[in-house]
Amino acid sequence: MVKIILERNVCIGCGSCQAVCQKYWEMQDDGKVNLIGSQKLKTNL
Ligand code: SF4
Repeated sequence: MVKIILERNVCIGCGSCQAVCQKYWEMQDDGKVNLIGSQKLKTNL
């Protein structure tokens, strides 16, 4: 099983993840991506 952690606070919005897999990565209006179907962690990394 693969676990992906998105550190959204350091995302620069380059779009590389979305270019590779649009099924899971979605660019948002604030210029950063969301990981579709993910759960938000309670602690910051
Ligand atoms: S857009 Fe995707 S690949 Fe680019 S910095 Fe953000 S998370 Fe990383």
